[in-house]
Amino acid sequence: MASRTVTLTGWGRIAPSSAELAEPASAASAAGLLKPAGPAGGGPGGVNARGVIARGLGRSYNNAAQCAGGVVISTARMNRIIELDPATGLATCEAGVSLEQLMVAGLPSGWFVPVSPGTRQVTIGGAIAADVHGKNHHVAGSFVTHVPSFDLLLPGGELRTVTRQADPALFWATAGGMGLTGLIVAATVQLKRVATSRVRVDTVRTADIDETMVVLAEHDATFGYTVAWSDSLATGVSLGRSVVTSGDFAELDDLPAAGRADPFAFRPGARLGVPAGFPPGLINRYTVAAANEAWYRKAPRLRQGELQTIGTFFHPLDGIRNWNRVYGPGGFRQYQYVLPFGAEAAVRRSFELISKARAPSFVTVLKRFGEGDPGLLSFPMAGWTLALDFPARTPGLAGLLDRLDQLVIEAGGRVYLAKDSRVTADSLAQMYPRLAEFRKLRAALDPDQILASDLSRRLAL
Ligand SMILES: Cc1cc2nc3c(=O)[nH]c(=O)nc-3n(C[C@H](O)[C@H](O)[C@H](O)COP(=O)(O)OP(=O)(O)OC[C@H]3O[C@@H](n4cnc5c(N)ncnc54)[C@H](O)[C@@H]3O)c2cc1C
Repeated sequence: MASRTVTLTGWGRIAPSSAELAEPASAASAAGLLKPAGPAGGGPGGVNARGVIARGLGRSYNNAAQCAGGVVISTARMNRIIELDPATGLATCEAGVSLEQLMVAGLPSGWFVPVSPGTRQVTIGGAIAADVHGKNHHVAGSFVTHVPSFDLLLPGGELRTVTRQADPALFWATAGGMGLTGLIVAATVQLKRVATSRVRVDTVRTADIDETMVVLAEHDATFGYTVAWSDSLATGVSLGRSVVTSGDFAELDDLPAAGRADPFAFRPGARLGVPAGFPPGLINRYTVAAANEAWYRKAPRLRQGELQTIGTFFHPLDGIRNWNRVYGPGGFRQYQYVLPFGAEAAVRRSFELISKARAPSFVTVLKRFGEGDPGLLSFPMAGWTLALDFPARTPGLAGLLDRLDQLVIEAGGRVYLAKDSRVTADSLAQMYPRLAEFRKLRAALDPDQILASDLSRRLAL
C-alpha cells in the first residue's frame, strides 16, 4: 500500500525519526504491512525490514509510536464508531476513534468514557496499548478494565479477536504492551453512565506535601475523581504545596435551571493555538516559579460544589491546541513514576530532589492509584503517582532523573513507558518484574521481529 516518508516525534518533541507512514483504511489493507520483510513486505528487502509499529494521535510523550527507517501504521483513517448501544453503553469502534469522538457520540444518551487521561486527543488503540489511567483510577482502574474485547492483527497478518477469558496471555500482553503484540484494529468499550456533562468539584489548597497526601487519601474515599496539582519548586515548610481538585459527575438537580434543558451539553469547539514564533526558553525556573506562585495564591483555601465542564475538569491543556510548542524547539521531557503505598517518605524525598535542583516542572500532578491490573507492562499499581514535565534543556536534568529512577527502584516502583525517554533497560527490568515474561511472549508471537519501535529498540522490549 502507498506510504510516504515522514519525520515524527512524540508530544514532547525531543527525538525525531523518519519512517514510511502508511494510513490504511481497513484491517485488510493493514494486514499486508505486517507480513515478514521481503517482497511481500512491500518492496526490495521489504519497506518493513526495519520493523513496523502502530501510531494513534501521537500523544505519548516520546518515541513509542515511531520506528526509525521502518513503517509506522497510522490509524487516522480507521476512525469509525461501528456501534454504540444507547441502552447499554457498549461501544464498538475502530482503533483510530478518539476519546473525544466517543464523548461526542455517547454524551447525548448519557454515556461518558470510563477512563480519561489528561487529554481526550487519544485513540482507543493508544489507550489500550498504554493501558491509560485517569483521575478515577482508585475506583475504576485503568482503561483496559472497561474493554471486553479487541481485534488484533498479529505479526504475520492474522486477525484475532482477543478476550481476557479466551486468550488471557495475549490480552494482558497487549494491555500496556505499547503496540508490540500487533495492530489493534477495533475494540469494544463499556462506557460509563452519567446524569449530566458537568462535574461537581471541591477544591482544597494544601500547605505542604504531608497535607497534600492526607487530603488526597481522604478524597479518594469520597470522590470518584481526585488529583493534586503541585508546586514542584516550593521548598522548606511549603514543600509539595498543592491544589487538590476532586469531583463527581453532577446530578440533574445540581444544575441551575437554565442548564437542565441541555444536561449533556459538550462542545469541544475551536481551540486556541500557540503562535509559530512563540519565543523559546520562556518556560524556565523563574517563569515557572512565578506562575506556580500566582496559581497557588489564586486557588481558594476551600471551595465546594463548583460546577465545571468536562473540558475544564478533565482536559484543561486541550484548550490550547499545540501547547507542547511553548517549550520551544528543544521540546520537553515528561517523567511519571508510581511508588507503592508505604513509600510516602520517598514521595517526599522526590519533591525535595526536584525543588533542590530548581528543575521547573510546569505541570506537576500527584495522585493515588488503586490496584493495578494483570497487564505485563501495565504501569499503574496501588500507590502514589507523580507526573512531571521539564524543558529538555534544563541544566542538570539528566542527573536529576537518574536520581529519581534510583529512588523509584529502591522504593519498589516504576516509570511510565508512554512518557519515558531515558530509562535504561537494566532499570526497566528492575521496575517491571514481568518484563521477562513479556519478552518471551513476544519472541514466540513475532519470531521474524516484524514489530519494533524506537522505544522497543532502546529497551529491548
Ligand atoms: C496532555 C496529555 C495528558 C496525558 N495524560 C495522561 C494521563 O492522565 N494518563 C495516562 O495514562 N496517559 C496520559 N497521557 C499519555 C497518553 O494518554 C498515552 O500516551 C496514549 O497512549 C496516547 O494515545 P495515542 O492514540 O496518541 O497513541 P500514540 O501516542 O500514537 O501511541 C502510543 C502507543 O500506543 C501504540 N498504539 C497506538 N495505536 C495502536 C493500535 N491501534 N494498535 C496497537 N498499538 C497502538 C503505539 O505503538 C505506541 O506504543 C497524556 C498525554 C498528553 C499529551
